[in-house]
Amino acid sequence: MTTIDELRRTVCDLHAELTRNGLVSWTAGNVSARVPGADLFVIKPSGVSYDDLTPESMVVCDLDGTPVDGDLSPSSDTDAHAYVYRNLPEVGGQVHTHSTYATAWAARAEPIPCVLTAMADEFGGEIPVGPFALIGDDSIGRGIVETLKGHRSPAVLMRNHGVFTIGKDARAAVKAAVMCEDVARTVHVTRQLGEPVPIPAEDIDRLYDRYQNVYGQ
Ligand SMILES: [Zn+2]
Repeated sequence: MTTIDELRRTVCDLHAELTRNGLVSWTAGNVSARVPGADLFVIKPSGVSYDDLTPESMVVCDLDGTPVDGDLSPSSDTDAHAYVYRNLPEVGGQVHTHSTYATAWAARAEPIPCVLTAMADEFGGEIPVGPFALIGDDSIGRGIVETLKGHRSPAVLMRNHGVFTIGKDARAAVKAAVMCEDVARTVHVTRQLGEPVPIPAEDIDRLYDRYQNVYGQ
């Protein structure tokens, strides 16, 4: 049984992966986790330096994005996270970053083509682009859900903004954010040298199936 205190620690600790992997600058970026069995989630506080994050500073919100426990204001992306938790019940964790290479694709509104086996494994195809959306209402959350619903990719490049990822838990969403930046960089570098070679759809399917169902311990 995962208690809220354990989740506060998990979400706090996972923020260190964003800095360790070079995905965030200053206070941008955030991780959240759904509280299993409750209509609640835990998210980073707004505008707090990564070095100063503590389990106690994490904010517990209901699925409308209203804080129910915590002394600080939640992340400015809380409404987007709340919308995704309300509309995608299988999602247990989310991450948002402005990581450089992935966001460069988002700035061009260009999906990252599936030209690496690692992309087929993790994303099951291209990494799609979501609509342009302003912060402050449901529009970012709506764009994430509309783009990822029925898509195998756990990552979406929100146009002119950055990366949002989902996962069965917060750790899986962090992994998707790390992998998204990694493949965004590699495909970008490939583009500088020539045209990337696509992977046939049936091979993408085979790679995705093996990685999702067989690979690992
Ligand atoms: Zn952002």
